Amino acid sequence: MAERCFRKARTEVRFLSPAQMNFEDLYSFVEKENKRLKSAYGPLDERTHTFGRAIKLTEEVGELNEALLSSFGLQRDEKLSRFSEEELEHEFADVMLCVLLLAESMDVDIAKALEEKIKKINKRKY
Ligand SMILES: [Mg+2]
Repeated sequence: MAERCFRKARTEVRFLSPAQMNFEDLYSFVEKENKRLKSAYGPLDERTHTFGRAIKLTEEVGELNEALLSSFGLQRDEKLSRFSEEELEHEFADVMLCVLLLAESMDVDIAKALEEKIKKINKRKY
């Protein structure tokens, strides 16, 4: 049921090509997508919706790991025969979108958080 909703979301929401994308576009997409997902799942309180987003993130990380294993040829032949490099790219995108949806649910300004984190990392001495 839940996966069907996400699949539907992927086909219904149009997005700019990656070359044209910026954080504002991404925020706008994520905001719309979160609203759409909330209505697709029916009346859920904010906390339940956010917990659902967190659980979905772990599912997507698992799918990314599965694609990574396939990419390195570390899966059964049956799985390897179905794998494409495009799937790996899509799983990276799924994880990123889940993180952004979760951040939006928690009112986290991810662009600001990334900027601050990058500044911190750049100050590190190696
Ligand atoms: Mg996925």
